[in-house]
Amino acid sequence: MKPYNVYPLQNITIEKAKGSYVYDENGTKYLDFYGGHAVISIGHSHQHYIRRITEQLNNIGFYSNSVQIPIQSRVAEKLGKLSSYEDYDLFLCNSGAEANENALKLASFYTGKSNVISFKGAFHGRTSGAVAITDNPKIVAPFNANHSVSILEYDLQQVENKLKENNTCAVIYEPIQGVGSIVSPSDEFVQKLAELCEKNNVLLIADEVQSGYGRTGKFFAHQYSDVKPDIITIAKGMGNGFPIGGVLVSPKLEAKFGMLGTTFGGNHLACAAALAVLEVIESEELVQNSEEKGKYLKQELSKIPQIKEIRGKGLMVGIKFDFPIKDLRDNLLYKHHIFTGNASDPNVLRLLPSMAIGNEEIDIFISALKQEVN
Ligand code: PLP
Repeated sequence: MKPYNVYPLQNITIEKAKGSYVYDENGTKYLDFYGGHAVISIGHSHQHYIRRITEQLNNIGFYSNSVQIPIQSRVAEKLGKLSSYEDYDLFLCNSGAEANENALKLASFYTGKSNVISFKGAFHGRTSGAVAITDNPKIVAPFNANHSVSILEYDLQQVENKLKENNTCAVIYEPIQGVGSIVSPSDEFVQKLAELCEKNNVLLIADEVQSGYGRTGKFFAHQYSDVKPDIITIAKGMGNGFPIGGVLVSPKLEAKFGMLGTTFGGNHLACAAALAVLEVIESEELVQNSEEKGKYLKQELSKIPQIKEIRGKGLMVGIKFDFPIKDLRDNLLYKHHIFTGNASDPNVLRLLPSMAIGNEEIDIFISALKQEVN
C-alpha cells in the first residue's frame, strides 16, 4: 500500500524542526514562513510543548468522554482567559472542518432552521458538511449533506434579502479569509452583519480556524471588528501540529446531553498539546509579538515597489503581485530555502510564520524576496 496521491508534493524530506526552522535529510536548513497552513503557532519542537506531551504520555493512556478529564477544563479555562471569552463553553473535536460542522449543527438545533449563509471566496473545510459552505474551486465535487447554503458577496442588502426568507440558521464568515487570499470584510460590514443576525434570531459563526489563536495580533481576528459571535470555531494553531479543534459556544446556547459527540475529541494528548500552546502564548507574549513582528514585516514589505498590495493583520499576511507567484515561491524555496504559501488568487503569496518569529527571520525573508523580484 502507498499513500493516496491527492497532494502535489515538494521534493523535500523534512527530518527535524526547531523554532522557525526545519531541516531536510541532508541537513539543509529551511526558514519556515508558512507553518503548515498556520498550524505552527509557538514554533517547532518547543521544549515546554514536548515536556507536556511526554509527561501526559507517561501518565495516563485511558481515555473516554464518559469520565472526568480535568485537563479539558484546564484548556477551557486558559483559553477563556487568554481570549476574553470566559463566559463561553468549549466543545473539543479534532479538526477545523469538524468544528464548523458542529457549529452548524448547533445553529440548526437552536433555530430549528437549516439554511446557512457564507461568503464568496470562503473556505470552511473538506468534510461533506463543511464543503457545502465553501466555494473554493479546487474542491472536487462538493455536495450538501444537511444544510442548504447561500454563498453571498459581502453585501448587506444580499444578506438582508436572504434573511427575509426566514429559513436561515447561521451566517458563517472568516474574519480574514486564508485560502481565499487574505481578504476581510470591513469592520462596519461585520458589525451590521452581527446586528442583522441578532434581529433575525440567526447565529453568527466566526470561523477562526486560520485567523485565530493570536496570529493577527489579537487573540481572535474578529475582535478587531468589536463583535461577539455566538459561535467561534478553532483548530490549526491550537495544537501546534497535534490535531485538535474546538467550538466556543455562547451561554445562550444551552448544552443538552447527546447534542454533540466525538470519539477522539478532547483526548488527553491533544489537550496536553493545547494546554502547552496556551501556556507558551501567555508566557512568551506571542499575541503581542505577532502584532509587533507583523508591523515590522509590513513596514519592510512596503519598501519593495514590485508589491502591489500588502494584506492581512499581524502574522497572517498576503502579498499581491501583478504576476503569478508560482516561480517566485519555487525560487524562495529551492534557492533561498524559505517555505511560503499560495492562495486561491495565483498572484498572492501567503505568509503564516510562527508567532514566535523574530526580526532576524523577517530580514532573511525580505532580503530573499528583494533578490527575487528585482
Ligand atoms: N476553516 C478555515 C478558515 C480553514 O482555513 C480551514 C483549513 O484550511 C478549515 C476551516 C478546515 O480545517 P481542517 O483542514 O482542519 O479540517
